[in-house]
Amino acid sequence: MSKLITAKDAEEMIRKGEQPSVGAVLTPSARDLFGSRLKPAVGTSCPGVSRNSTAAGIARGEFSWKPGGDPTTRAGIEKYFNSPALEVLKERICEMGRRLWQREYTDGNGGNITVRVGDNLALCTPTLISKGFMQPSDICLVDLDGNQLAGTRERTSEANTHFGIMKRQSAAKACVHAHPPHATAFSIANVDIPSCLIPEADVFLGKIGLAKYQTPGTAANADEVGEVGKSHQAVLMQNHGVIVWGADVEEAYWRVENIDSYCRVIWIAAGLGGGLHRFTGSQASELIKIRQKLGMPDARADLKECELCDSAEFRPGVLVPGSRSPAGTENADPAPDPEAELLVQQITDQIVKSLSNNGAPPVDGRNPPQ
Ligand SMILES: [Zn+2]
Repeated sequence: MSKLITAKDAEEMIRKGEQPSVGAVLTPSARDLFGSRLKPAVGTSCPGVSRNSTAAGIARGEFSWKPGGDPTTRAGIEKYFNSPALEVLKERICEMGRRLWQREYTDGNGGNITVRVGDNLALCTPTLISKGFMQPSDICLVDLDGNQLAGTRERTSEANTHFGIMKRQSAAKACVHAHPPHATAFSIANVDIPSCLIPEADVFLGKIGLAKYQTPGTAANADEVGEVGKSHQAVLMQNHGVIVWGADVEEAYWRVENIDSYCRVIWIAAGLGGGLHRFTGSQASELIKIRQKLGMPDARADLKECELCDSAEFRPGVLVPGSRSPAGTENADPAPDPEAELLVQQITDQIVKSLSNNGAPPVDGRNPPQ
């Protein structure tokens, strides 16, 4: 079995001037401590990691597994769950949790993280825990139906929402769900997040999907989010928050940063009063090509250029088309009220008539307002 080197081990080794042996697996903190001191040949045999497989990059990159090789016995599952490769991933999940909490993308016990580690296996965060203070020993192993297979804490109730995406989109190797305040504000205000404003957002987020509100943790929510998430890497969950996915857990986490930063900038820019300048459909098309070269799906790939940036001009209060308010009324512009229309028309006629009389009292004898 490969030797796992933790941050504490790394400190001791650095103090003694030692280097990790070939094949050793370093935790992210240990890797950071070694930094440029690492020899390039170190750590080239980490099972399960398909790229960035030097020790310096061991925790990054898409995790791969042997297809058809999921352990099935109790002993096999425990061995895999406690393997160095999965210990590295657990520590990585905790690190992403710390970043979520430090950036105020989660509060209380909010948010959850999953990383796929087998045909039918995933690591996931437990329920009722602050994402800012997790330890690797808190992480659970579950199958993609949400059955807990290993770990001492109970898995998050929202794991099945992540698996709704993973089952439909094989490129989704890690998912992060959080409640970043600016993006979540868009989700509860029912305001569409416009595209064609910032090139990096169009490349790294693509078209942001919208999943209609469903009760968190339910099968209906998993289906709704899964259907949207299979073609959108960033999904706004109505009245809830966001869920994003990527090839690895850090890439997924970056998208939480991306979407909240994007919504924050739009919110600030919309308040400046000068309108928002959008780039053209042709320019958006170039960004989509960059996105496709990076291997990322885009729900807009089949659209014509003239359709890419032609959504309603964004302004605060533009509602998601066809969505419903909590009271069940359509959020599209309401149908005109005939009585109100008639009243407005009568008042308008009266004012026009009054003005045409050069200030003389209206013909019905009532005084104009003073
Ligand atoms: Zn949530």
